[in-house]
Amino acid sequence: MRKMNSPPVPAPGSSRRLRFLLALPKFGIVLLVIALLSLLWLLQRNEHEEERTTLIKDVLWLEQNLRFHLNGAEDQLQQLAVDLVQDAEPTRTFRIRAAHMLRTMPEVSQILWLDPNHRVIDALPSSTLPDQEIEAFGLAYTQRAFELASQLGKPAYSEPFFSDGKRAFVELLLPVFNGRRLSGMLAAVFPLDTLLNSQVPWWFTQKYKVVIVDDNDIQYAAKTSVEGNTAQSYEIPFDPPGRGLKLRVTSYQNTENFLPRVLSAAIILLAGGVFWSLWLVRDLMRKRTRAEEALRGEHAFRTAMEDSLTVGMRARDLQGKVIYVNPAFCRMTGFSSDELVGTTPPMPYWVPEQIDETFAMHQAVMAGMAPPDGFEMTFRRKDGAHFQALVYEAKLIDGNGKHTGWMASVLDITERKRAEELARQQQAQLQFTSRLVTMGEMASTLAHELNQPLAAIASYNTGCLNLIDQAGCTTADIKPALEKIGTQAQRAGKIIRRVHDFVRKSEPKRAPCDLREVVEDCLGFVEADARKHRIRIEADLPELPLVPADRLMLEQVLLNLMRNGMEAMADNAEADRLLRVAIEVNEEILSVSVADQGCGIAPENRDKLFTAFFTTKPDGMGIGLSICRSIIEFHRGRLWADDNPRSSTGRGTIFTFTLPLHSS
Ligand code: ADP
Repeated sequence: MRKMNSPPVPAPGSSRRLRFLLALPKFGIVLLVIALLSLLWLLQRNEHEEERTTLIKDVLWLEQNLRFHLNGAEDQLQQLAVDLVQDAEPTRTFRIRAAHMLRTMPEVSQILWLDPNHRVIDALPSSTLPDQEIEAFGLAYTQRAFELASQLGKPAYSEPFFSDGKRAFVELLLPVFNGRRLSGMLAAVFPLDTLLNSQVPWWFTQKYKVVIVDDNDIQYAAKTSVEGNTAQSYEIPFDPPGRGLKLRVTSYQNTENFLPRVLSAAIILLAGGVFWSLWLVRDLMRKRTRAEEALRGEHAFRTAMEDSLTVGMRARDLQGKVIYVNPAFCRMTGFSSDELVGTTPPMPYWVPEQIDETFAMHQAVMAGMAPPDGFEMTFRRKDGAHFQALVYEAKLIDGNGKHTGWMASVLDITERKRAEELARQQQAQLQFTSRLVTMGEMASTLAHELNQPLAAIASYNTGCLNLIDQAGCTTADIKPALEKIGTQAQRAGKIIRRVHDFVRKSEPKRAPCDLREVVEDCLGFVEADARKHRIRIEADLPELPLVPADRLMLEQVLLNLMRNGMEAMADNAEADRLLRVAIEVNEEILSVSVADQGCGIAPENRDKLFTAFFTTKPDGMGIGLSICRSIIEFHRGRLWADDNPRSSTGRGTIFTFTLPLHSS
C-alpha cells in the first residue's frame, strides 16, 4: 500500500547475508595472520639457513687456509731436514733457512734443531723462549710427539700446551734422518694465538669469533673483533695439528643487516593497520546492523500503526499530486494505493457534480488557506457511493524542515452525520411528544376555556332568535349580538388554532419573532389553568426587538417553565401563589425569567434537573427541562435555575433563559 519515499528497509535475508559478510573479515584476518607469521617464519628460517651455510663455508675455508699454512710450514721443515743432512755446513743452513721461515711465516714463533736426545742444537730465535720452557718442551709436552715422529719417521704435532699459563702453543716435530738413522729433530713452535692472528683475515673476525678448543672444551686461543649476541656456531676438527683440537667458529648476529628487519616491522605495522581498519569496519558494520534492526523495528511499528489507523491519511506535494495514501484512506475511497498515488486533480474520488467547489477547496488548501478546524467534503467511493468526509489539512515538513507538501487526515463522518440526524429527528419527535403531553394535560382546561366562547355564542344566538321573534325588531338590534357572536367565534377559533399550531409537528424554523407576543400567547394558554388553581400571574413585558428564533419552540419552553412553576406552588396558601414572568434586555442578550414561590429545588436534585427522565412528580415524565435546555442551546442561549430571593414564602425558584439578540 505504501508509495511514499520511505527508506528502503533490508529484508531479513539480507541480514543473514550481512552476518556472513561480517564473518568474512574474521576468516580473512585469521588467514592473513597465519600467512604473515608463516612468511616471517620462512624468512627467518631462510636467513638462518643462509647464515649457517655461509658460516660452514667460511669455516671450511678457514680450516683449509690454516691447513695450507701448516702444511706449507711442514714442507719447508721437511726440505730443511733433507738439506741439513746433505749440507756441509748444517748449522749455517739451519740458521739461514730458519730465519727465512720465521720471516715468511709469522705463525711460527721459533724453530728448534734438536739432537736425538732431545737436546737443542740450535734455535731461532733462541731468545723467544725462556730456557725452562725449552726444557719444558723436551720434558712434558713434546716428549710423546718426539717419540712418535722418530718412530714413524714422519712429522708429528705435539699436544697443545700453555706457557706460563697464558699463551698456548703446539709444536711440529719433524725427524731428521741420515740414511736410516735418526740424526736429529726439527721443531717449529706455533703459538696458537699468533696462528689465528696471522691466518684469520679481518673480515672473518668482523663476522665470527674463532676459538681453538679441545675435547675438554679448554680454550687455547681466540680471535674476534665483534661483540654481541652470538647466533650460531660450527665446529670442525683442527687437523693438522689434530690432537683433539677443534676450530669453533661462532657467528654474531648481523646488526647491519637491518633491511629485512625493517621490512618485517613494516609488514607487521601494515598488518596491524589492516587489522585496525578491519576492526573499524567491523564496528561500523555492527553499528549499521543495529541501526538496520532498529529501523526494521521502527518500520514494522509504523506499518502496524498505519494499518490499524482508522483515519485516512493522504499526502500531496506542493503541486497537488498525491504522493502517499494510507490503507484507511484506500478502504474509505475503495481505490487502491496504486490507483491514487501519482494522481493530480481532479481526483478520482471527487464528486463530479461538485467538481467546482471541490477544486476551489483544493486551491485554498494548496494556497495554505485551509480552515484550521477542518472542513467537510463529499467524496465518492469507487463504486459511486458518496460519503461525507471531515478533512484536516496540515503542512508536510520533511527532515530538513522544508515544506514539501500537504498532509491530510480524512475522517468518514457519514455515519456520524446519520446518527446526528437521527438524534435530531428523535429530539424533534420527543419535543412533539412533550407538546402532546403538555397539551393533553391542558386539554380539560382548554375544553373549559373553549366552552366559554361557545356558551357565549349559544347565548348570543338565543338572544338573537328571541329578538327576531319580537315584533319591531330591527337589524340594528340584532347586529351587536351578531358581532359579539363573531368575536366569540374568533376567540374560539384562535384557541383552536393555537392548539393546532402548538401540537403541529414541524421542523425548527428560525424567524424574527417578538418575544413579548410569544409570552403573551403562552400566558393566554395557561390563563385558564391558573385561574382554575387560583394562581396569580404577573408579567413585566417591555417593548422588545425582534429576535431570530423558532416561535413554537420558545412557546414550548415558556409553557413548560410556567406549568412547572404553577405545579410547584400547588401546596402554597392561596395568597402565596404568584408566578412572575419578566423579560430583560441589554445590548446583546435578552433574558426571560419565570419565578415561582413554590417548593424550590432540593440541593441534591440541582445537578439532575436537566437530565432527561429526571422527575420528582409521581406522574411526571422528566423530559420537559431537558428539552427546554436543548431548545435554548439550539438558539445559542443558556437555561439555568436559581432560588427565588424575592419569594414571600422564602422558597421558590427562578428559571432564566437567555437568547442572543443577533444570530451570529
Ligand atoms: P416533569 O415536570 O415531568 O417532572 P421536568 O423536566 O419539567 O419534568 O421537571 C423535572 C423536575 O424538576 C421536576 O420533577 C421537579 O422536581 C423539578 N422542577 C421543575 N421545575 C420546578 C420548579 N419550578 N420548582 C421546583 N421544582 C421544579
